[in-house]
Amino acid sequence: MKTVAKPPLKSSDMPFGVFLFLMLLAYAFSVGIRLIWVFQFSGFEQFVWNGELMINTNDGYYFAEGARDILNGFHQPNDLSPISTPLSLLTAFFVKTLPFSFETVILYMSTCIGSLLVVPMMLFARVFQEEWVGFSGALIGSIAVSYYNRTMTGYFDTDMLVVVLPLMVVCFSLYVLHFENQKVLFIAPLFVCFGLLWHPAVLHVGNGVFAITLVYMLLFERKNPIFYQFLSILIISLMTLDMGLKIALIIALNLLFVYFKERLEVKILLTLLFTCIVAYVVLGGYGWLMIVFKSEYFTRAVINDIASGNTFNYFEVLNTVREAGNIPFETFAHRISGSTIGLIISVAGYLLFVYRYKLALLSLPMVILGFFALRGGLRFTVFAVPLMALGASFFIFMVAKYIQNFITKEAQKVAYGVFVGVGVMAMLYPNLQHIVNYKVPTVFMKNEVQTLDLLGKQAQREDYVVTWWDYGYPIRYYSDMKTLIDGGKHSGSVNFPVSFSLLSDQVAGANMARLAVEYTEKPSGGGLVQMMQDYGEKNVTTFLNSLSNKQFSPPAKTRDVYFYLPDRMLSIFPTVALFSTIDLKTGNQQKKPFFYAGSPMADVGDKVDLGNGVLFFKDATKVVVGGQTLPINTFVLTSYDANKKLTRSVKHVDISGSVFVIFMKDYNRFLVLDYTMFNSLFIQLYALENYDPELFEATILTPYAKVYRLKR
Ligand code: MG
Repeated sequence: MKTVAKPPLKSSDMPFGVFLFLMLLAYAFSVGIRLIWVFQFSGFEQFVWNGELMINTNDGYYFAEGARDILNGFHQPNDLSPISTPLSLLTAFFVKTLPFSFETVILYMSTCIGSLLVVPMMLFARVFQEEWVGFSGALIGSIAVSYYNRTMTGYFDTDMLVVVLPLMVVCFSLYVLHFENQKVLFIAPLFVCFGLLWHPAVLHVGNGVFAITLVYMLLFERKNPIFYQFLSILIISLMTLDMGLKIALIIALNLLFVYFKERLEVKILLTLLFTCIVAYVVLGGYGWLMIVFKSEYFTRAVINDIASGNTFNYFEVLNTVREAGNIPFETFAHRISGSTIGLIISVAGYLLFVYRYKLALLSLPMVILGFFALRGGLRFTVFAVPLMALGASFFIFMVAKYIQNFITKEAQKVAYGVFVGVGVMAMLYPNLQHIVNYKVPTVFMKNEVQTLDLLGKQAQREDYVVTWWDYGYPIRYYSDMKTLIDGGKHSGSVNFPVSFSLLSDQVAGANMARLAVEYTEKPSGGGLVQMMQDYGEKNVTTFLNSLSNKQFSPPAKTRDVYFYLPDRMLSIFPTVALFSTIDLKTGNQQKKPFFYAGSPMADVGDKVDLGNGVLFFKDATKVVVGGQTLPINTFVLTSYDANKKLTRSVKHVDISGSVFVIFMKDYNRFLVLDYTMFNSLFIQLYALENYDPELFEATILTPYAKVYRLKR
């Protein structure tokens, strides 16, 4: 059976040079807009380190740690440094080859790489000779709210290529099928292979493109050999196979097709495709489906997930982060297109586009992934951004064309240009407005980084820093020390000992910190269960209580342990507490310890209003909490003296009182707390600098962060 040759598709009217120029223009626009944040923040000394603005995403420090260790050529076993992640490798490569500092590279990588989105967007449109739609769409898409938020300057994360790579897959699939170009069938599958190293989203899009192409072929192109050939090659990239083997197979099959040209009958091609599909199924290529069903797309926060091996009911981070869930439609629309009306225009334009150019349907998987946001969480919106932006752009051009019909010939061109200009500007406006107002601070302040830098110089790389997980990655980057928990390792079971340490009295806190560190470093590992076994204790409550005993003998010390206690932890201390105030046997929260931090809001006669219904009597005898007047047990006033040393004045008011008040004068901040919180390691060591010298040594004390070394 011979397929009927179609008339050759005419190549685009726009010369490639002009197209390239437009692409550069769009790229420059995208980069330029991302410099607004830099201009807003340059000059703020607190955001600068090593002569460069610091990054504004916590996870970025993870990849920065990996890149630094790659460049150093060493790292420590168990230090969790990601020395083989593509982003760390790419970063190290740029630092090595470009004449910029490490800090500059990680600051601007998202700016320069994220802006590459304009390339596949404009290629996509050029396939259909809609270059101007592509250009305007690229302007809109490259700065649309959710895409901007995750590729802004300083947002050093894998997000910078998360949308670019799948869109490349879509683009080159379109290209070979539209122009029936047999020679480059391999490009889209290779993008899948390399994209998979970067981020799993590529696999979802690749599978989606495969499914849609298959359906499209069955409906419209049953006799077109190029579809069979392309699908046979694409599916190889989606299989669960060794990457080298995949690439070899892809290239080999492409060469085979080129060699046979049109001599392979559809019957043979169909058999080949069928064989490939069977191999895909046998080789477990469908595994992605299972992952999708089990993954974050579908599951909501699982409360008290009892993972295998976990005997205890821990409190999980998912319970404190509620990103998934019902998102208001306005928010969803704002993220994708800047406004609700913008999204409606975008969807309408996208539908018109795929109606006009059927093959553009291949982009549907990305749109679907983006619309998953309504269920799976806002971060998915980015996938829909480029296509919705192209849709909006197409809509504007269509309406402009339509309007021409009502205008005299002479005015037509002008009216067309004016309408397009105004339309694109209207789409850009809400996004630009967002960008100007989106003043995300850097993750850390210079004062804090100074502390970490100093600590790193005093301590060893094998030493541990015990602190909340929010500071894990930055500490590993700035101090190059080990941490128990971080932005990726923060399950309930690993958070528990840290929370317990910070919340317990100093003896128990010190013992638990030593236990947690030594058990983390043990080759056999093991958490609380292993500790209890080793100490011959079956009851968890008895075991935890025994840690408060000074006679408790912690494991032998193999390295130093430091507590990093930043001022910013005060505001999240109640959340930190949740992880250890849980009954491990039942998973129920025990009575929450009382903790309130507030600044004086108003003077009310003999009282000071601290907000949220908390009032402090000026004579420091009583407080009002929730309408109840309670006697103060102890009142402590802390302030810095002329030598910048913290001083405390302690006033024991009423021994029967259950409320403790700390007035941190130089911070203009009151802490109102119960005995558990007052007596906790964190409050005693951070707020009061009242440490047991047998257990701790003050290493660095600044008003922003305090570091103590564990003595035993
Ligand atoms: Mg290290």
